[in-house]
Amino acid sequence: MNVDAVSVFLEEGHLRLAERLGEFGRTEMTRFACAHSDQEARAMAREAIRAMGGPGWLQAHDSRTLCLFREAVAGISPLADALFAIQGLATVPLRLEGSPAQQDRWLDVAARGEAIGAFAMTEPQAGSDVANIQTLAQPSGDHWLLSGDKCLISNAGIADFYVVFASLDPTMGSRGIGAFLVTDGTPGLRFAGAQVLSAPHPLGRLEFRDCRAELICREGFKLGMRTLDTMRVSVAAAACGMAQRALDAALDHARTRRQFGQPLGDFQLIQEKLAIMAIGLEASRLLTYRAAWQRDQGQLRNSREVAMAKAHATETAQQVIDQSLQILGGQGMLADHPVERLYRSVRALRIYEGTTEVQHLIIAKDLLKGA
Ligand SMILES: Cc1cc2nc3c(=O)[nH]c(=O)nc-3n(C[C@H](O)[C@H](O)[C@H](O)COP(=O)(O)OP(=O)(O)OC[C@H]3O[C@@H](n4cnc5c(N)ncnc54)[C@H](O)[C@@H]3O)c2cc1C
Repeated sequence: MNVDAVSVFLEEGHLRLAERLGEFGRTEMTRFACAHSDQEARAMAREAIRAMGGPGWLQAHDSRTLCLFREAVAGISPLADALFAIQGLATVPLRLEGSPAQQDRWLDVAARGEAIGAFAMTEPQAGSDVANIQTLAQPSGDHWLLSGDKCLISNAGIADFYVVFASLDPTMGSRGIGAFLVTDGTPGLRFAGAQVLSAPHPLGRLEFRDCRAELICREGFKLGMRTLDTMRVSVAAAACGMAQRALDAALDHARTRRQFGQPLGDFQLIQEKLAIMAIGLEASRLLTYRAAWQRDQGQLRNSREVAMAKAHATETAQQVIDQSLQILGGQGMLADHPVERLYRSVRALRIYEGTTEVQHLIIAKDLLKGA
């Protein structure tokens, strides 16, 4: 993994880790590179999570380690990368606000890769507008009953536990949203079907009907946003990993493919594309590791910098992968070519954990505050 450009934001330990992670990605994640269907992705998920948990990669890490991990893995297996991220989204809320019993029950097994988590926030009427969550939580003795529907939930149907966001009081908007824990198999929880993506990913709908749940915390909206703030910078890193893989493939091809009697790389139109791809990727990395470094220094109110990294890196990765495929020509479009897989996988990064437009709103609001 090439971290030279961002070494100013890294410590000695991170540099050594980057080497180990490069090796881990190549040797341990390649077998998860290629799922051909939603069912295959679901079948691979548990093994992939175990493969990441065994060596300790699913433990709590600093932001820069999260980024290095995702950068190393995302270019090789976008599916494994997504599973890593979802495990983070499901465990960070428990780590931040879970009761000792909730933490004892799930955090160690999840860190070892022996349990799969999910983060259920999105609903048919509440995507970017999270405050509009309609799933209702009603108290019932020492627990709560949830009723409502969730959609676009990663790991729906395969998770062992779900962190679910539901409204305690719909008149209170975001202030009325709580965070809850639901164990798979609880009566009233139903996997309501897969939602199939162009890049295989275990995505689906969930139905809650008087489903018994434990409260994690009443300030669920804040907890959800803190969780997204923790994980979001790593989405930018995943985008960098995907873009790097695509740039490498384009460079190899430009050196070896000959047309009109010379390597493609000798044509200035191709050189320009390569240069623009490299500039975009390097700028993405700088934004990403700056934001991660700030978080590791304790600057946790860096939503603007995190949003800049996420928006820039994911949009740039999409362009880099598209240009790589253009340089590869017809070969790059063949099913299961690594760049063809990246082309299908990168699209989701501009949407999940806050769309690009939402990142732009965060940045602009912060600018307008005069901060
Ligand atoms: C692969 C994948 C995995 C996912 N996994 C999960 C998961 O595990 N858990 C979970 O809870 N959710 C998950 N999601 C859902 C994801 O978080 C939502 O798709 C995302 O928040 C956007 O919501 P939406 O799709 O309803 O789009 P909408 O909110 O309806 O937005 C549609 C378009 O309108 C734009 N828009 C919305 N509001 C504004 C505004 N105020 N100003 C300008 N433009 C605006 C958006 O940017 C977008 O371009 C996943 C999605 C994908 C694609």
